[in-house]
Amino acid sequence: MKICVYPGSFDPITNGHLDIINRASQHFDKVVVAVLVNSSKTPAFSLEERVDLIKTALNGKDNVEIESFSGLLIDFMHEKEANTIIKGLRAVSDFEYELQMALLNKNIDNDIETFFMMTNINYSFLSSSSVKELAKNGAKIDGLVPDEIKGTIVAKLMKK
Ligand code: ADP
Repeated sequence: MKICVYPGSFDPITNGHLDIINRASQHFDKVVVAVLVNSSKTPAFSLEERVDLIKTALNGKDNVEIESFSGLLIDFMHEKEANTIIKGLRAVSDFEYELQMALLNKNIDNDIETFFMMTNINYSFLSSSSVKELAKNGAKIDGLVPDEIKGTIVAKLMKK
């Protein structure tokens, strides 16, 4: 069985992330969306909230699983018996960090590959931080996140 892991903070999930998940799911038997617990920045949404938003956004897609992880990604890969890491690339600015992470992981376990997928051109500008900034300041986030989770995101972030 070909299993890939798509790690990230998903704070919150956006249409850019979903596009990567949907495309990856066409090439692997299973995609494990791995939600990072201990990111260095404090997330706006709790782990439970981030997982729930992903679940709602995915709406029961059958070969996608949602899990959370802390610690080393490589340990999580072993736990899941997966040998491919999926990463999305937007601008050149993503490249340097992702190159470093891919090489670091390869150095720990040479059997694990990182596959990079280019962003969908419609979402190349889209990040979780921009969604948060817009929602916080009362701007529309239509088309940036799935309609099913838009209300929850706005309700959480909108300045009182
Ligand atoms: P971000 O805050 O950058 O959205 P995440 O940690 O949630 O960060 O991102 C997880 C993965 O999804 C990373 O590989 C990131 O490059 C990728 N990603 C994020 N947004 C997009 C997008 N709009 N298009 C393609 N890939 C994306």
